[in-house]
Amino acid sequence: MTGAPALPPIIDTHTHLDDPAFDLDRDFVFEASRTAGVRHFVNIGYAPDRWESSRLLRERHPDVDFALGLHPQLADRYESSLTRELKQAIQVLNPVAVGESGFDFSRTGPSFVEQERAFRGQLEIAAAFGLPIIVHQRDASDALTTELDRWPELAPIVLHSFDGTQRLADWARERGCFVGIGGLAVRRSSEPLRQTLRRITTDRLLLETDSPYLAPPGSTSRRNDPTNLPGIATALAPLWNLSGEELCWQTSVNAAALFGLQSVA
Ligand SMILES: [Zn+2]
Repeated sequence: MTGAPALPPIIDTHTHLDDPAFDLDRDFVFEASRTAGVRHFVNIGYAPDRWESSRLLRERHPDVDFALGLHPQLADRYESSLTRELKQAIQVLNPVAVGESGFDFSRTGPSFVEQERAFRGQLEIAAAFGLPIIVHQRDASDALTTELDRWPELAPIVLHSFDGTQRLADWARERGCFVGIGGLAVRRSSEPLRQTLRRITTDRLLLETDSPYLAPPGSTSRRNDPTNLPGIATALAPLWNLSGEELCWQTSVNAAALFGLQSVA
C-alpha cells in the first residue's frame, strides 16, 4: 500500500465540543481533528444540560465518549436530587469517568463548603461505580490532596490541565494520578509549569485541549480545538526526551487503558 505515512494516534481526553462556540461548524471541527490524527474525544459533561449534549454528541460521532459530573464553579447546585440524577445518568449513559469535579478558588463562586460537598458526593459516586474521577483544580492544591488522601481506594484520578505546584506533582506521582497536559503548558509564561511537569512519568501523561478554552500560542483562532494537539505534543515532548509522535503514542496508550477505549491505539 502506498500513501502518506500513518499519523500517530491522538486522544483528546478533555473537550467541550458540545459548547455553543462550535454550533456553527461542529462537524467541520470533528473532520479537521480526525484529519490531524485525533482518533478519540472525551467530552466533559460538567452540568446536567451538558450531560444531555454530550450524549447527543456521542450519538452523532462514534469516536466520542464522555464524563458526567458537576464543575466546582457550579457546586452550589449540588443537592440530593442532583446526586440521584447523576447516578441515574451514569447507569443509563455509561460514561468513561466522573467529572470534572474538584476545587477552584481562583475565581469568586461557590464557597469552600459547597465545593467540598459536591466533590465528596462525586468521589463517592466514582468509587461506587469504579469509574475514574476527572479533577479540576485551581489554586487549591492543599484542599485537593487533603480530600483525596481520605479516599485511598478510588479508581484512577486524572488531574486535568495540570497547573499545580511541585508538591502537587510529587503527590500525584506517588498516588499514580494521570496528568492532563495541553495548551496551558505551552504558553511562554509556563516555564515553571513545564519544569514541574517533568516530574510526572510518561506512563501517566494524557493529552487534552479543553476546547474551546486554553488555545495554545500561535493558533489561528482564540477558540481552541483538537487540531492543535499535534503542535502541542511536538512542543511538550522534549520535556520527557520524546518526539511528538512518541508522546502521541504513549498518551494514547495511557488514555485507551484508563478509559477502556477499545478502538484506539
Ligand atoms: Zn473542562
